[in-house]
Formats: sequence, structure tokens, C-alpha cells
Amino acid sequence: DPDDLSLIERRGRVLGPAYRLFYQEPLHITKGEGVWLYDGSGRKYLDAYNNVASLGHCHPKVVEAVTRQLGTLNTHTRYLHEGIVTYAESLLATMPESLGHVMFTCTGSEANDLALRVARSYTGRQGVIVTKLAYHGLTEAVAEISPSLGDFVPRGPRVRLIPAPNALFVPPAEQGAKLAADLAQAIAEMRAGGIEPAAFIVDTIFSSDGLYPDPAGFLKPAADLIRAEGGLFIADEVQPGFARTGEAFWGFQRHGLSPDLVTMGKPMGNGFPMAGVAIRPEIVSEFGAKARYFNTFGGNPVAAAAGLAVLQVIRDEGLQENAREVGGFLKQGLADLTAEREDIGHLRGAGLFLAVECVTERETNAPNAALAGHIVNHLRRNGVLISATGPGANILKIRPPLVLGRAEAQIFLDAVEMALAAA
Ligand code: PMP
Repeated sequence: DPDDLSLIERRGRVLGPAYRLFYQEPLHITKGEGVWLYDGSGRKYLDAYNNVASLGHCHPKVVEAVTRQLGTLNTHTRYLHEGIVTYAESLLATMPESLGHVMFTCTGSEANDLALRVARSYTGRQGVIVTKLAYHGLTEAVAEISPSLGDFVPRGPRVRLIPAPNALFVPPAEQGAKLAADLAQAIAEMRAGGIEPAAFIVDTIFSSDGLYPDPAGFLKPAADLIRAEGGLFIADEVQPGFARTGEAFWGFQRHGLSPDLVTMGKPMGNGFPMAGVAIRPEIVSEFGAKARYFNTFGGNPVAAAAGLAVLQVIRDEGLQENAREVGGFLKQGLADLTAEREDIGHLRGAGLFLAVECVTERETNAPNAALAGHIVNHLRRNGVLISATGPGANILKIRPPLVLGRAEAQIFLDAVEMALAAA
């Protein structure tokens, strides 16, 4: 479309080179509704790509709550306002009692930035351990703990990397012990350099970069270890949180543990930008006395209204159960479609958070980026959106909105079947 070409050109001229678009021939989306995105010609695409509009695009309850609040009052967070309190109460009610406070930001990066600051302030230590391939955001402090950004981001001695959890190389039953052993080694190395560990931060369903297998429970030994060593355990729930795994509301609940800090974002406002950190009160009490915290937009009345509507919709529409049920259907369907294929390896994930590995052959499990690219593009031509991720760009990441119904899941599976047949 010549109009799109000129828009791409205008976009590049003003936004510069760092803002990448998805797809070689980018999608120009003008409307979203439920699991569907629409382009200007009215063509629709099943959005199984992003977990922001987790309740479906433009969910009417969220739109209504945001519109009502925006038309009544929106301002910074220094006036007394009931919305933020009611929302914080509802949000904390989804968590273990030990997580008694929540502080709001606008992005997941800011949430992790704040979590690191609070953890360092409480422990009086500087060291942070993070898994390789992880992405936790890109503020100047958080970029250091986002190795998936690449080596061009300088990483100082206060950050140490350990291998990402990957059951392809470590049997599920041994993953917990392996992660804890890697963590112990990183702590020892850090100490040898004169730095004490303040925190270990990890996704509770490992999602960037690659969506690796994650037997429920395997994070527990590492979480116990970092605490025994005087550090804190930070769960990054930006991707798994808000019922996506179907098994629990929060990813950490699948591991039978209660983190010291929980960071959250993306689906929290179903597209309205909001994020936050839930914290054990004792961790933040000294920080609160010493430091001042102010975030102009974080937790503003409109954000609080959006967040509250999201929690209500997840509960009222039974979306956690739906994620489990339809996610199970989708996973089984993918398993059936790929069972006989030598070029499809591991299939994994929980709820509506699934991944499929494209490989050259199962035996070696070598990444097959060409096949993944073919499937992503073929699906797009047939109106289904997913992404390929991982260091080998061969892992199909499937994250449809939690409102996905069985009929829509079947549309997805039919499109995958065609893409595989054409490969
Ligand atoms: N943590 C994780 C696990 C993420 O996936 C992301 C975003 N991709 C972030 C943090 C950062 O969130 P934001 O882009 O809102 O800053």
C-alpha cells in the first residue's frame, strides 16, 4: 500500500532508527476488539502475539472505567484519592498476606528499577544476580540486568549472570537444584570480588528471551538460597502475571513461594500504561522513612480505575479458568499437529502462554530460524499474529488474550496446520 510506505517513511524521519516494527511488511492496525485486530481495509487478525490487551482489545468494562474517570478527574498522585487505595487493596488481595504494600509506576522497567533501589537500600548491598537471556526493562539501571539487550549495554561488577533455566538440557526434576547451584556459585564469585548480593531477580515463567520450560516449583530452592544468603527474591511478573498461566493468578504461586518483591506491568491496565511493585512492608519501611517516592502518573486516578476494572473482569469472566481450559485445548492441538514432525521440537508453557521450538532435527535440537520465520509470516498472511523469539529466533511464542474461546483457538490451530503443511 503506497500510503503505508509513505507512513513508514514519515515514521522513520521523526522516530529515528531505534523504533523497530514487527514484520518486514509492517501491519497498519487501526482498530482492536476482543482477540481481533483490524487494518484499514477491515481485514482482521487474531492477535496471539502480545499480552498487553490481556482481556482482549478495548474491553468495554475497561474502556468504560477509564472514560468515566478521565471525564471526572485525573491528576498526579499527591492529593488524597480513594481510587488508588481501593485498587491497591484489591490488587494486594490477590497476593500472599506478607506482600502488604504496593507502589505504582508507569512501566515495567520503572517497576524493576524501583525494586532494585528498594532491595539495595534495605540490604545495604549492591549485588544483583539475574539469568542470562533475561529482559527486565531498559532504564539505565535495569538495562544492566537485561542481558537479552546484548553486550553493548555495559554491565558492572555488581551484576552477575547465571544460565537461564532450560529443561531441554536439565531434566525437570533437577532444574531447581541446578538453578540454586548456579546461584550459589554466582554469589561466591560476587563475594570474591568484594560485593554482597542484594537480590536475585527472575521471571516466574521464563519468558525473555525464549520462553523456557519451567516445571512448577523449580524456583523455590533458588529463592530460599538468596534469602539464606541475606539477599531478597524479586519475582518479575510482567509477563506471567494476571492469570495468564491459568494455573494461578501469579506465576510465583506455581512455585509455592512468596517473593520479597513482585514487579508487574503489561496486562495490568489492559493497555492503559501502568505498572508497580508489591513489597513486604518491612523492606520498604526504612526506604520510606529515608527516601521520598513520587511518580507523577504512577497510580493516578485513571490508572487505578483501569487496574480495578481489569481485576474485576478477570474474576467476573472467569478468565483464569478460561486460560487453563482453552490453553490446554490449544496445547493439545499443537501437540497433535506437530507430533509427527522432525522439525518441531519441544512444546511447552502453561495456560495461554505457550511456546513451540522449530528445529533442524529433534535429535540435535538445533535452532531452525527459517522455519520459525516461515510459520510467523504464513500465519500473518492468514490473519494470525505470533512472534518468534529466543537467541536462535526459532521459538514460537503464543500469547493470545485470556478471552480466547475454543472456536478462535481452532481458527488458530487451522492456520498453524496450513503453515506447517506449506513448510
Ligand atoms: N520485565 C519483563 C519480563 C518484560 O517482558 C518487560 C517488557 N517486555 C519488562 C520487564 C519491561 O516493561 P516495560 O516495557 O513496560 O518497561
